[in-house]
Amino acid sequence: MTQSFTYRGMPHEIVFGDGSSTAVGDHVDKLGCRRALVLTTPQQVEDGTDLARNLGDRSAGVFSEAAMHTPVDVTERAVERVAVTGADCLVALGGGSTTGLGKAIAYRTDLPQIVIPTTYAGSEVTPILGQTEHGKKTTLTDQKVVPEVVIYDPSLTLGLPVAMSVTSALNAMAHAAEGLYAQNRNPIVSIYAVEGLKAMQSALPAIVETPGDPEARGKALYGAWLCGMVLGAVGMALHHKICHTLGGSFDTPHADTHAIMLPHTIGYNAAAVPELLAPVGEIFGGTPGAALYDFALRVGAPSALKDLGLSEADLDRAADLAVQNAYWNPRPIERDPIRALLQDAWEGRRPE
Ligand code: NAD
Repeated sequence: MTQSFTYRGMPHEIVFGDGSSTAVGDHVDKLGCRRALVLTTPQQVEDGTDLARNLGDRSAGVFSEAAMHTPVDVTERAVERVAVTGADCLVALGGGSTTGLGKAIAYRTDLPQIVIPTTYAGSEVTPILGQTEHGKKTTLTDQKVVPEVVIYDPSLTLGLPVAMSVTSALNAMAHAAEGLYAQNRNPIVSIYAVEGLKAMQSALPAIVETPGDPEARGKALYGAWLCGMVLGAVGMALHHKICHTLGGSFDTPHADTHAIMLPHTIGYNAAAVPELLAPVGEIFGGTPGAALYDFALRVGAPSALKDLGLSEADLDRAADLAVQNAYWNPRPIERDPIRALLQDAWEGRRPE
């Protein structure tokens, strides 16, 4: 019998193609805007400056303080810069951190956003905004933060370091894998998930071999879009919760944590919903957890939590935190199996 579902489309425009970011000024015009504030991290300020030059008199300058986990004090400085420069739209160039800054400004000012993603995080197509203040991360979901235009230009990702490409892609794959068993899943989003996983499965080994391979880069960015669409459309479960716990309480790096945990969390849930996770097994070849583990190893991803500075003694507290605040998951969240899962992930053991 066909599953009942609801589906909500996103009101944004997606532009995909090599060199497409050079037309950013046209998109500013199409939005009816006149002056765009360019956002970057300090590491990408040169690219941001080039982009501002390309915008010419449509540029309101570059704000280059974007940082991991969207600190509120940075956002407040950026909002001040918007006021001082009279910017009437934002162009975020970078990964999830820069996109997060754009969303945080839009949340406070309602300014339209153009995002040019240079990693595979996928934040540019979600209504989710995580922010940090006084060392505490909070997450909100609001359609107001969805960027109006996303320009995927694979040529800007040719230099994304291989290690970051790998962890960022595994982070994206986690959105797709969890989307397959989401309680509010629907057939369209499941198609995005499968297509996104297939794109990553084919692109990532090619990127590891030839980081500047334009075709593989294009495919990975296409996969990142689809995986991001899954994250934006349906609920996430155990995997995202555990990664959030580890990142929030033990400060483990975001993308590395996702990369290490993915085979274990998917392996845990595959026991409960084998039919929903069957596409993962088919795409990566094997049982879902083991197949993802083998793939991650093949592309050189980190495989053990102990390498992220987490001590074995932390695992008890991590397990306690992970089972607090009940949330929906296809398999019950029970402390002993979760503690065992964390031990496996800490040691880097291959799931079954
Ligand atoms: P990031 O944006 O923090 O980027 C990491 C570093 O890589 C930065 O210094 C950045 O400038 C640099 N970089 C980015 N692209 C590059 C390129 N092509 N070449 C060279 N350097 C490049 O990392 P990320 O993994 O993209 O994003 C992580 C953040 O995004 C986390 O805070 C996470 O919570 C958030 N996120 C949010 C959502 C959402 O829907 N709200 C989704 C996914 C991730």
